[in-house]
Amino acid sequence: MSDTAEHTEAAEPVLTFLEKVHAKAEQDQVDGKYAAFEKIEDVGIDQGVARLTPEKIQKTINGVLKGECGTRMKTYVETCVHCGLCSDACHHYLSNDKNPKYSPVGKVKRTIWNMLDKDGKLTPEECREAVIVAQTECNLCRRCQQFCPFGIDIAYMISTVRRISFKLGITPQYIQDTANSHSVTMNQMWVKDDEWPDTLQWQEDEGRDEIPRLRIPVDKEGADFMYSVIAPEPKFRTHLINQAAVIFDQAGCDWTMPQLPGWDNSDMAMFTGDFETMGRVKKMHYEVAQKLRVKKIVMGECGHAFRSVYDVGNRWLGWRMPPIEMVHSIEFFAQLFREGRIKLKDKYPEQVTFHDPCNTVRGRGLHEDGRYVANLLTQGVVEMSPSKLYNYCCNAGGGVINCGPPWKTKRVLSNKIKAEQLARMKDRGINTIVSPCHNCHGGLEDIIHHYGLEMELKFLGDLIYELMEKPGAVE
Ligand code: SF4
Ligand code: SF4
Ligand code: SF4
Repeated sequence: MSDTAEHTEAAEPVLTFLEKVHAKAEQDQVDGKYAAFEKIEDVGIDQGVARLTPEKIQKTINGVLKGECGTRMKTYVETCVHCGLCSDACHHYLSNDKNPKYSPVGKVKRTIWNMLDKDGKLTPEECREAVIVAQTECNLCRRCQQFCPFGIDIAYMISTVRRISFKLGITPQYIQDTANSHSVTMNQMWVKDDEWPDTLQWQEDEGRDEIPRLRIPVDKEGADFMYSVIAPEPKFRTHLINQAAVIFDQAGCDWTMPQLPGWDNSDMAMFTGDFETMGRVKKMHYEVAQKLRVKKIVMGECGHAFRSVYDVGNRWLGWRMPPIEMVHSIEFFAQLFREGRIKLKDKYPEQVTFHDPCNTVRGRGLHEDGRYVANLLTQGVVEMSPSKLYNYCCNAGGGVINCGPPWKTKRVLSNKIKAEQLARMKDRGINTIVSPCHNCHGGLEDIIHHYGLEMELKFLGDLIYELMEKPGAVE
């Protein structure tokens, strides 16, 4: 290239990250990726639908709507005035050009109302649409409920559609496989009986390279805390276990981890509508803590697992509150800092933003505890807008990410609104997102990757482990 050419060639315009998100979304439209939503194949749904008969459809739908749902469903159906005030609350609606079919009430219209209007006489194709709406177009995130003047819980209505779909045998294959694994092996990842204690031993060994006295006390009776995790942790994010062990050790906690069945606190059956399995799995989790006579369960950094033990599973089993005291890691870490049991040697060198997991904010109100911890650990939290109780879901939750690869593109594109939120942060120089939820990490990672946002994700435990003082550690 000659000097002249170098000087006259127009410079590439420098796009902001927000502009990059918009450009990518336009390209996705041109490439027909949104249009492809209409013909996604899923063996679990497609084969299940092929087996449906008119009798089975009507009997199942009416069995659930008339036999299992009481006044709660009737009240919601009769109270909703179709005002659409909840529409702008939903990330699916906002990310799909405000197509009314993705609005909360639009999703109820395509499912529950259709079932009621037709007295359960849906065609197999309508059943197919209902399960796709319920399992892939709603995260049960409960954001819309906060904007309804009557407090109508759309997530409850959509959960009921999932229950019907499960009973019809038309659940997406990936999430059904996960729930089946949990039902058979008592953990969702088919971790074998010898693999789990081996993993704990391995993580203890890893931790002892740094802190020679470190132990992961297994099945210790009468401990103050039982720490429980989701089964994907030993499979995919194993280091979180030794990081937690270091935090418990350095804070001087009397703690244990269970190796008995019931150690996995996750629950995909809650999201498929297989409430019988959900109840059985939750009962095992409570019972393992009761057998060990621990004082409290500390749940790892996961949103849905917390919902399953603290809100849904306990109620299904007949308890308004869990039968044993339990806290999410967010509140546990906050408590450790308030009591001065963790000291920091350093701070994360940058400001961060905080993605609130729906299940820990709308389900438990832990947004201020999360910020208290994150502000101590970093140069400060810069808020996304909206945030805290009004945060947009990551679109992984409610079991949507667990529907697996067939639905991934739809899941990522249907959360353009979150990508825009993150891009605004990135344009303000924020490179790190703190989020105390496994599923949120999975969903946000996919969004970051698809829209080229170049951001890093951290659990609170990652930061505490990195930044805490560790007396007794070998250099
Ligand atoms: S619960 Fe969440 S995902 Fe479902 S309709 Fe409401 S806002 Fe949308
Ligand atoms: S659920 Fe509430 S906000 Fe939404 S359309 Fe019905 S009445 Fe309006
Ligand atoms: S994965 Fe996270 S943001 Fe998404 S529904 Fe669950 S808790 Fe909410």
